[in-house]
Amino acid sequence: MADTTIMDKLVSLAKRRGFVFQSSEIYGGLGSVWDYGPLGVELKKNVKDRWWHAMVHAREDIEGLDAAILMHPKVWEASGHVAGFTDPLVDCKHCKNRFRADDPRIKGTPGQPDAQCPVCGSKGTLTEPRLFNLMFKTFMGPVEDQAAVVYLRPETAQGIYVNYLNVLNSSRQRIPFGIAQIGKAFRNEITPGNFIFRTREFEQMEMQFFVKPGTDVEWFERWRAWRMEWHQGLGLDPAKLRFSQHGPGELAHYAKAAFDIQYEFPFGWQEIEGVHNRTDFDLGRHQQYSGKKLEYFDQAANERYLPYIVETSAGADRVALTLMVDAYREEQVEGETRVVLGFHPAIAPIKAGVFPLVKKDGMPALATRVYQALRRRLPVFYDDSGAIGRRYRRMDEAGTPFCVTIDGDSVTGGTVTVRHRDSMTQDRVALDQLDSYLEARIRGS
Ligand SMILES: [Zn+2]
Repeated sequence: MADTTIMDKLVSLAKRRGFVFQSSEIYGGLGSVWDYGPLGVELKKNVKDRWWHAMVHAREDIEGLDAAILMHPKVWEASGHVAGFTDPLVDCKHCKNRFRADDPRIKGTPGQPDAQCPVCGSKGTLTEPRLFNLMFKTFMGPVEDQAAVVYLRPETAQGIYVNYLNVLNSSRQRIPFGIAQIGKAFRNEITPGNFIFRTREFEQMEMQFFVKPGTDVEWFERWRAWRMEWHQGLGLDPAKLRFSQHGPGELAHYAKAAFDIQYEFPFGWQEIEGVHNRTDFDLGRHQQYSGKKLEYFDQAANERYLPYIVETSAGADRVALTLMVDAYREEQVEGETRVVLGFHPAIAPIKAGVFPLVKKDGMPALATRVYQALRRRLPVFYDDSGAIGRRYRRMDEAGTPFCVTIDGDSVTGGTVTVRHRDSMTQDRVALDQLDSYLEARIRGS
């Protein structure tokens, strides 16, 4: 199976089963903007809940935050985004398409007569590269002038930096401590793509950890290891995860060290999370631009300093895509192709399907009672249409780890079969044990 075929099949499955739809599809779609359907929203929510639990609830040294998307425009001057968050772009004067200056499809040097447009093929029609800011700009209030410009945040991190003293003073934290946030961010990418991998509107899961200068390297190494463990704990194939270190030429202006956690997608190794040692760059700049002291006073040591920051920055959409890619498989079963999303049970949008074997002999009534009891605690799905084999296949495609079937013995003997998605084997489970049987396997495995 060719690699690009997997992505095409996944995009098609995602639409068919209600994971991801193209935004505004009935109007022809909006470029690189996607909507999550009933199963997709559950998948992504499970990713975010797991992250929040690991980063905030399971730790005593991290607090949560939900800052607004709109921020004072000076934030983006201080952060360097107004001046530096740019891509060099070239336009084709003939077909009006716009490209990144380093687009590998461009032959020759843009601005020169020999340069060739990769879309219309015209020669000499590409302009010299010009800088283009990736932030979405809008206006606050009724007047659309320069003084009213605000931006849709291109990252959630800045909302954490400007609130760091608020969080510190209102919680009982002392350095070292962290602030975690999940939220939308926006980048007017020129070459987005690969489904929900690179989109113009996306959701970040970012944590900024504030440490004493001099301890930053050891905290950076800890966070790097912890974040890799988290991705492995999602059930991803460990052979498809790796670190990639940014060389001196690739480091962002604020970073002392940076590692990407990468996953091997059908379109190559790509970043799913970044771990960065941002030094005191961000707090230093906000101190300078706001004129407010942002130093930390360490009472025990009786000293003041500007903390260093270790950042972990993951994309919820990218992790959701990674889970779908990693889970997708096709198997030949009795001469038919079985499509399976082999999600970790804790991540799966639906935990169990509930089926009456046939629509008679009291089976639908009992199956409905089982379904109503389970759905109080778990996302479950009732299905009584079609052959049992087809119902299993539909749940396999949705990534549902368990199917509970009510048959004749259930009505007379009080037991049901639980069929396992991956092995396709079945267990006979007593009805009064069903809850604990499922919950142990969803939580534990
Ligand atoms: Zn052109």
